[in-house]
Amino acid sequence: MKLKRLFGTNGIRGVANRELTPEFALEVAYAIGTFFGKGKIIIGRDGRTSGLMLAKAVNAGLTSTGCQVYTCGLVPTPALQYAVKHYRMDGGVMITASHNPPQYNGIKVMARDGVELPREKETKIEDIFFNRKFQLAEWNAIGEAYSIPDVIEVYVKAVKKHVNTAAIREKHYKVVVDSGNGVGSMALPKLLREMGCKVLTLNANVDGTFPGRPPEPRPENLGELASIVKTVKADLGVALDGDADRAIFVDEKGQIHWGDRSFALVAKHFLMKKPKETIITPISSSQLIKDVAEEYGGKILWTRVGSITVSRTMLKTKSDLGGEENGGIFYAPHQPVRDGAMTTALVLNIMAQTGKRLSELLGELPTYYIEKGKVECPNELKQKLLVELIAKVKDLNVDTIDGVKIWFEDKSSILIRPSGTEPLYRLYAEAKTKQRAITLLKKYEKTVRAIIRKLCFQ
Ligand code: MG
Repeated sequence: MKLKRLFGTNGIRGVANRELTPEFALEVAYAIGTFFGKGKIIIGRDGRTSGLMLAKAVNAGLTSTGCQVYTCGLVPTPALQYAVKHYRMDGGVMITASHNPPQYNGIKVMARDGVELPREKETKIEDIFFNRKFQLAEWNAIGEAYSIPDVIEVYVKAVKKHVNTAAIREKHYKVVVDSGNGVGSMALPKLLREMGCKVLTLNANVDGTFPGRPPEPRPENLGELASIVKTVKADLGVALDGDADRAIFVDEKGQIHWGDRSFALVAKHFLMKKPKETIITPISSSQLIKDVAEEYGGKILWTRVGSITVSRTMLKTKSDLGGEENGGIFYAPHQPVRDGAMTTALVLNIMAQTGKRLSELLGELPTYYIEKGKVECPNELKQKLLVELIAKVKDLNVDTIDGVKIWFEDKSSILIRPSGTEPLYRLYAEAKTKQRAITLLKKYEKTVRAIIRKLCFQ
């Protein structure tokens, strides 16, 4: 496998038995074990067909470096992250490819705080891996492997501590959970039932071929959930991604709401209790979160795109709430990582405490229209384009933390970012009307194309 880097924005990812073979996972685990140096490491996995194979290889690699390994089988990623802290582990390894297609898998490494390692530590593991600085233990210092059976119970109990379970129980909510054949069904239905909800499940059998729907909970994949919510007259529908750290909601009318809106709802009620708090969110998030923060006295700290950046920024600034437009909400009083079950509990908590239905709560938020576009751009021109673009728009209200985001007076905005994986630039325009969003998108697509033409002829 020819790689300059092992870790991408979300751990190590690849196609099972192509890039992610057992030998590869074994050597990655030698490097992880060497990095942790004989510590206690917990391993979990999502429901992918290659999960057990890769978990066993990682287990062998870690014990061979003298680490003590604790396995917990099929668990949501946030449950594994919680277990790292709860059981005072030195680190954790999650075998998951989150929302990627079924043939993929991945390896995420958590520090002792349950959050994925910061980039500088990933670089250390990469150095050990590529330079083969593995430190295998002597025969009499090889690690043991133990299993921990109650990770889910501990996690569910922890989530419940942060909401008013008595208020939720009184409402007897009916909730439809679509875990998309992922590991979310291991924890979320249990949590909801323990809070007195009537739970109906869809795609609840863990199946690594994901026969029910693709593992990413995008609106186009959630039609079945939406119609079931309506048919059975449920109060709420929840769709999780493959490893259950993201949650997308459907209201009682069967309307699917993208993550920007549930994040803004949680942020609003959080700020109503704790005004002046800072909310951490990537620059790709909607103007909606800015509106909510302004109205309820909070501040926004924009970050680069990526969940690890959000988590690490929250830890650094001691912020309690973070969120992403894709349905990932980070609630630090529980843990500063995306957590689908915690997010669902927070939404139910708001419903119970206000006595309002989800459609009503979300209807109180402003509406924005988003238009997305892309312009092809050779990889070697991406950086030059960024420099030219920044020079061109420097007199506007611009943030260049990740790509270029321009805010306009009428609350519209555009984000122009190079794709990390493909030879193109992505554009996201947002405005109060669809027409304005389209106009903005077309205008900047033209600007980007003109710069590329100019760079090509230089
Ligand atoms: Mg995920």
